[in-house]
Amino acid sequence: MNRTIVRTSDYGPVSTAAPQPACVGFDPELFFPHALATDQIEEAKAVCRSCPLMEPCGAGALSTSDLAGVWGGMSEDDRRKIKRRAGRQRAGKTASA
Ligand code: SF4
Repeated sequence: MNRTIVRTSDYGPVSTAAPQPACVGFDPELFFPHALATDQIEEAKAVCRSCPLMEPCGAGALSTSDLAGVWGGMSEDDRRKIKRRAGRQRAGKTASA
């Protein structure tokens, strides 16, 4: 599959201004691993960990539903778990309020 990804803090076209996303120059397919391709997922996350945009990229990914692939150092599974945990925390606060 030929997929174009653009990953910046606002998911716009890759900027030529600094800071550049660390994923620029990598095969985009690296960031769309099969769910069981743990080596590939870890490789993509390692690229993200070296990225100056990891935090905003991750925040953007968490605020977007049904986003495939590794973004901001998180796999789809990671993001699902984080969202589930946040939902449980919100529910707990609501119940105790
Ligand atoms: S955090 Fe990862 S996916 Fe996001 S811009 Fe950086 S390298 Fe690309």
